[in-house]
Amino acid sequence: MNVFVVNCGSSSLKYQLINTDTEEVIAKGICERIGIDGKLKHKPTGKEELVKEVAMPEHKTAVSYVLEALTDEVAGVISDLSEIDAVGHRIVHGGEKFASSVIITDEVLRAIEECNDLAPLHNPANLIGVVACKELMPNVPMVGVFDTAFHQTMPQKAYMYGLAYEYYENYKIRKYGFHGTSHSFVSKRLIEILGKTGQSSKVIICHLGNGASITAVQDGKSVDTSMGFTPLDGLIMGTRTGSIDPAVVQYIADKKGYTIDQVMNVLNKESGVDGLSGVSSDFRDLDDASEAGNERAILALDMFAYRAAQYIGGYVAAMNGVDAIAFTAGIGENDGKIRAKICQYLGYLGITLDEEANKARGKEAVITTEDSRVPVYAIPTNEELAIARETVALVL
Ligand code: ADP
Repeated sequence: MNVFVVNCGSSSLKYQLINTDTEEVIAKGICERIGIDGKLKHKPTGKEELVKEVAMPEHKTAVSYVLEALTDEVAGVISDLSEIDAVGHRIVHGGEKFASSVIITDEVLRAIEECNDLAPLHNPANLIGVVACKELMPNVPMVGVFDTAFHQTMPQKAYMYGLAYEYYENYKIRKYGFHGTSHSFVSKRLIEILGKTGQSSKVIICHLGNGASITAVQDGKSVDTSMGFTPLDGLIMGTRTGSIDPAVVQYIADKKGYTIDQVMNVLNKESGVDGLSGVSSDFRDLDDASEAGNERAILALDMFAYRAAQYIGGYVAAMNGVDAIAFTAGIGENDGKIRAKICQYLGYLGITLDEEANKARGKEAVITTEDSRVPVYAIPTNEELAIARETVALVL
């Protein structure tokens, strides 16, 4: 089967066409600057990249250019659109309504719309992508795969905040968690590596990318995660603060004369390792700067690792043990220095790093010694493949 995987943002649309029998990517690409001017970068596997600067006033035009590129005489990979068997859409927020992926019917579309309030920057854009694809491929089944769904198994004691209960009842304020597709994909793989599929298992997944979150997965189910009502909570990230005393919001607003929106912008976009270091949000730059002795870069990396280790410790306690830990996403898969820094805090678990093995980059590897009581792995995530697999499972 060929599954078209779509990740639609407010001004961009990323896509992959995946042959789910071989799990190979047939083509992938991105439309950028939708609604501004418009640029398509289309990369067919084994062929030359196609770059097209064309007006994309709205998402439907962008999708139509992608479909044109997929069937193009030179850069195309399929002869016509009937070779697309299904479309899998990444949807950020499914609220409490969606605990798993779904076939998108009109009724489902309305139910997703009702979650828009919870992710006002992301969900409406995701839905625009769904509508555009439905219009251009009316007979192709569409599936929605939610970032929040995997975490719907968290027990209430984990997802509730210490706010009066009415805020949960009336406004659904609770921890939802994100990166669920990645946490699900990597935890499944880790449990498979451990040979514990179908048995009881306790694993911790550290998804460390520009956005970062850690999840405790017991018996294959998310039981706690570090992101919360929004992706701002938890770990210190590229540009996000992670957990912070909420009273700081009012204090900054008073001191700087900012509106709440302006303070939220500071917390989301001007903070994290970027704001702390004044160097960059990219860990490659931070590693270089810290090696050159930049004290604020060293501090930012120390804080990042310290916070991550605190979450890991919290989740070992939550599950009363851990069988294995995995690092994934841009930083987790590639940055051995940060992995080592985090593991330095985990000696109490009997974890001993294998420095040579920890040089692994972008590939699956065990990074601890054979006698490490708890093995630690680097496992590449693949959210597009996960979406394609979910889509096939529903439409077959
Ligand atoms: P997102 O999907 O959240 O944008 P990714 O998972 O792609 O993030 O991770 C991007 C981040 O990964 C970059 O900002 C950078 O900090 C980090 N990264 C990527 N490659 C490397 C590398 N070789 N060494 C260290 N960090 C890396």
